[in-house]
Amino acid sequence: MQALVYTDTQTLIYRKEKDPQLKNGESIIKISASGICGSDMHAYHGKDDRRIPPLILGHEISGIINKGKETGKKVVLNPLITCGSCDYCKNGREHLCGKRIILGMNKPIERQGGFAEYVSIPDKNIYELPLNLSMKEAPIAEPCAVALHAVELGEKELSKAMHNNKVLVIGAGAIGLLCGLILSKVKNCKNIVIVDPNDKRLKESLKYLDADGHKPDSKNIINEHFDVVFDTVGLETTRQQAIRCIKPGGIIIHIGLTQPNGNFDFRKVTLQEIMFIGTYCYTNKDFEKTLSILNNKEIGSLEWIEYRELKEGSAAFKEIHEGSCTAPKIILLI
Ligand SMILES: [Zn+2]
Ligand SMILES: [Zn+2]
Repeated sequence: MQALVYTDTQTLIYRKEKDPQLKNGESIIKISASGICGSDMHAYHGKDDRRIPPLILGHEISGIINKGKETGKKVVLNPLITCGSCDYCKNGREHLCGKRIILGMNKPIERQGGFAEYVSIPDKNIYELPLNLSMKEAPIAEPCAVALHAVELGEKELSKAMHNNKVLVIGAGAIGLLCGLILSKVKNCKNIVIVDPNDKRLKESLKYLDADGHKPDSKNIINEHFDVVFDTVGLETTRQQAIRCIKPGGIIIHIGLTQPNGNFDFRKVTLQEIMFIGTYCYTNKDFEKTLSILNNKEIGSLEWIEYRELKEGSAAFKEIHEGSCTAPKIILLI
C-alpha cells in the first residue's frame, strides 16, 4: 500500500509500505480520510516519546471495512485501543487503561496509523458512519470526542450550570474551536472568550464560533475573571495565563500536551481553591455521544476543515508547522 511515513524529525515520505495483515478479532479498513492532529505535529517535531520514526502517524480515521466481519460497511474508528478487562475498562473509564494504545504510535506497543491506504483495528473500535456525516468529515469525531470529554469533565465539577459561566478557551486550534463549539451550541454557554497568538487562525475560528476573540496578551483578558479556563495548548505560558485569569473557586481544564514542565503558581491554586483537571482522550460513551452530536449537526457547519491529498501530506505538515495554515484542521483524503 501507499503510505505517508514519518521517517525523521520534520520529514514525511510518501512511499510503498507492507499491507497490514488480518488478525483475530480485528478488521482491515480501507481508509478514506485521516485527520492531522496536534499530537501528530508533536511527533513531527521529534518531541513525542510514544511516536518514534519510522512510523505511519494518524489516528482520526474514516473508511470502509475491507477485510473482516462486515466487509463493505462505512465506518469511523475509535483509535484508542484498550484491554477490555482491567478495572478502568470495566467501569467505563477505558481511556485510563494501563494497556491503552492509540493508532499511529509505536511505544510501548506498535500500531501503525491512518496516513495510509489500509489500517488494522480491533472490531470493538469500529463504529458505523452516522447517516448525516460525510466520510471525509468523519475523522473530526476523534478530536470532537476529546473536546466533549473535556467539557463534560469540567461540567461535573461546576457549582452552577455551564451556560451561566464565563469561559476562557486558550488556543484556537481544532481542540480549542471544538471545545468552544460544544460549549456554545451544545451547552448553550454565551460567555466565551477565545485567545490565540495567530491572528489568521483566530479570525477563521470566529467565523464559526460565537465568542470574543483576542490575542493572549490583550488588555481585554481580565485577571480573575473566568469561572472555567480550558488550556488546549499546554505551554508553561498558557498555564500561567490560565491561573492568572481563573476566579477563586474556578476550574482549569488542562488538555494541551505541548510542554510537560514549567513554573506554576501553586500558592494561588491553594489559597483560592482552584480546581485543576487534567483530561485525556474520551471514554467509549463519549465517542458514541460525539457521533450522535455530529449526526444531528449540533455543532453547526464543519466548513472550517480543509482537505488535502494524502500524497501532499508532507506539505500540509510543513504549513501547519510554519503557521501559514489558517484552517483549524486539515484532513488528508486517500
Ligand atoms: Zn487526535
Ligand atoms: Zn484496560
